[in-house]
Amino acid sequence: MKNLIYLIIISISVNTFAQKTSDLFMTKEIRQSYDKETRSYEGIPGENYFINKIDYSIKANFNPATRVLSGKEKITYTNNSPDSLSFIYLNLYQDIYKKGNQRDFYLGTADITNGVRITKIIYNSIDIKTDSKEVINKNSILSIKLPEKIAPNSNSIIEINWNFILPGTVPVRMGTYNKDNFFIGLWFPKIAVYDDILGWNTKGHSGSQEFYNDFGNYDVEITVPDKYNVWATGVLQNGKDLYSNKYLNRINKSKETEDVLHIISKTDREKGDILKTKGSHVWKFKSENTPDFAFAISKTYIWDATSIKSGNRRISVNAVYKENSKDFHEVANISRNVIKFLSEEVPNLPYPYPQITAFNGGGGMEYPGMVNDGDASNINGTLYLTSHEIAHSFFPFATGLNEQKYAWMDEGLITFIPSFFIERYSEDDYVFFKNNIDWYNKNAGTFVDVPLMISSDNINGSAYRFQSYNHSSVAFYLLYKYLGKEKFAKALKQFGEVWKGKHPLPYDFFYTFNKVAEEDLAWFWKPWFFEMGYADLSFKKTFKTEVNRTIIIIENKTGYPVPIDLTAEYDSGKKISIYKSMDIWKNNKKTYKLNVPLDGLKKLILNTETIPDAYENDNILEF
Ligand SMILES: [Zn+2]
Repeated sequence: MKNLIYLIIISISVNTFAQKTSDLFMTKEIRQSYDKETRSYEGIPGENYFINKIDYSIKANFNPATRVLSGKEKITYTNNSPDSLSFIYLNLYQDIYKKGNQRDFYLGTADITNGVRITKIIYNSIDIKTDSKEVINKNSILSIKLPEKIAPNSNSIIEINWNFILPGTVPVRMGTYNKDNFFIGLWFPKIAVYDDILGWNTKGHSGSQEFYNDFGNYDVEITVPDKYNVWATGVLQNGKDLYSNKYLNRINKSKETEDVLHIISKTDREKGDILKTKGSHVWKFKSENTPDFAFAISKTYIWDATSIKSGNRRISVNAVYKENSKDFHEVANISRNVIKFLSEEVPNLPYPYPQITAFNGGGGMEYPGMVNDGDASNINGTLYLTSHEIAHSFFPFATGLNEQKYAWMDEGLITFIPSFFIERYSEDDYVFFKNNIDWYNKNAGTFVDVPLMISSDNINGSAYRFQSYNHSSVAFYLLYKYLGKEKFAKALKQFGEVWKGKHPLPYDFFYTFNKVAEEDLAWFWKPWFFEMGYADLSFKKTFKTEVNRTIIIIENKTGYPVPIDLTAEYDSGKKISIYKSMDIWKNNKKTYKLNVPLDGLKKLILNTETIPDAYENDNILEF
């Protein structure tokens, strides 16, 4: 009996300390996916994993004078789930500008409209009246009760006609940049994701959170007036009919060289001989296995192009910008280097799309094969913005992340990964990731600091930004410092390969990293991803030993693992550096002893420049 009690005590204490990723908190909705074996504890899809396919054939017309976009789409929906679907849900993202709709931020008054007008719905050749009770339009989601269910492993065809007015004064992620230049994203009624976690994802769009997309083929025809050029997510199909030979030759040449060629210069714009014919034109694009489709139109911007090999094909790289942009003259060159970096280093995967176009609209926003970027104020800013938005091609796009629920999975990774790129290409002083450590140190432990696993659709504003961009990227930075660049990139590559064209969750990410690390990293995942808390090392105590050395006890106040990076400064000017990787805090260790020579010791400093620390004041100890 005595022995048994002893054993129980042992096992309780072991359980308290040893942590396993499979024991980490999981919502009921996610837990059931493991029971149904759509997910696995291996970081790979389960035996019963499914993903539905959505192919779009769209004909759209955009009038720059009125900013009215009208379109007709034919959607082929393939239900690969085991469920019969009696509803279809579509995202009407432009309804963020609809009168009375919920918005996370002020959008002025000039762009507030009646939102997206749906003028026709046909389901499998059955006409559904848009004003019938089967059709509900609420909070940017259009729900349609279907006259007949979509059975498992079957196709349905949905045809929809719609129109809306593109915002003219307050562009958010897309819109009007001046009277001749428009970036058009989030523009067509888009079927919501039906997945193994929630079934239909019908959160709607109110501004802060981004998107969640299924994959499919896009066949898109865009009609615009005379003199406008169109760039888009897909590959242009009828360039030969549209461009004059001179420009066609330049475009083709750019697809064979790493040099940056000027396809359209300011002088070319003045000459006005870019397109073969006058009048409006239909621009035809195709894109395969893509999660979204965006396009940009311009009649004044200039255009640079180059290309680079990635995997077994050449990627066409384009920059389209205003002549007086401060930095876009460099963006084609930078973008080509970004593709090279992403393909060969981190995540070391072939670029997922045949082309990329950086359009000089405003802000910074990613779409598959397209980014919409404003001017940056210095070279490091341009390097960051360009590499950040282009790297989104992998996360969230190629991997199909749920940005509504776990924005940090893409924004955190894509805030961290550019550090390697900037370090390589910056001509200015750049301390790897330091600006993000500064951001973290200022905000960690404040009201905006919430655990990463609180789903992003429950938070807004500064907390949303801090969670998805900063707290998360700091965690990835620490993971990289612990694993090294090679293992970090290897894990990311595996994650990207296994989950390409699917919908991974954070747990799939954790298991993949565990596998590559050959270690259960729950001791790191739990505090940094699941718990309230922050990085904070401080000096607890020092005491002298007999041999003229001092023992320093460093305390980890909240248990968030971070490396110790300590410098001891001496009267003689000598400095000693000590570095201990963050696994010293495994098993809930709260203190760590270091031993340094005492003679002439002036100061001990715990680095807060490259090691996150919410309370920097207690990181210096003077003797
Ligand atoms: Zn981003």
